[in-house]
Amino acid sequence: MRRNRIERAGVRRLANWQQRRPLMHIQALPTDLVRHWQAGGADAHGQRPEPAISDGNGNPCRHCLNLIPQGAGYLIVAHRPFHSLQPYAECGPLFVCADACTRFEDHGTLPEALKSSPDFLIKGYGRNERIIYGTGTIVTPEEMPARVADIFTDPQIAFIHVRSARNNCYQARIDRTP
Ligand SMILES: [Zn+2]
Repeated sequence: MRRNRIERAGVRRLANWQQRRPLMHIQALPTDLVRHWQAGGADAHGQRPEPAISDGNGNPCRHCLNLIPQGAGYLIVAHRPFHSLQPYAECGPLFVCADACTRFEDHGTLPEALKSSPDFLIKGYGRNERIIYGTGTIVTPEEMPARVADIFTDPQIAFIHVRSARNNCYQARIDRTP
């Protein structure tokens, strides 16, 4: 009887663990970088962030991963979400809140920014930060976790980038669960 209770508790713990720890771990931009822009620091092109006011029409912040509310200030910057400078290290525009927002922490559910569009482009990269061809796919938010898990079955894949399906803007990085 006692043993059965322990076994049942173990199964419950495993179920909770799996709910909290899916195969994907979503990474928003680092806070120190975003604070640098929010303080007027230069972007990847050496330019000051451009201030703008959100129309509330789907402007996602890449730090809190929420949609920037209508009337709220935000910054437009050029960013290269790679460590290495090489032909695959794309640089492009993205938005962050103008005010100091709180970085998204992945507790197992998709952030608002990754549910706000009907679909997204995801693609896998190797350790050398180059695209692993064949991984690029357009997915709905609902399809994303399963497709990410599928891409991560290839040991060559070091990380995955999520971009907007229509404008190719960088949204977030996904790593394997630590
Ligand atoms: Zn934000």
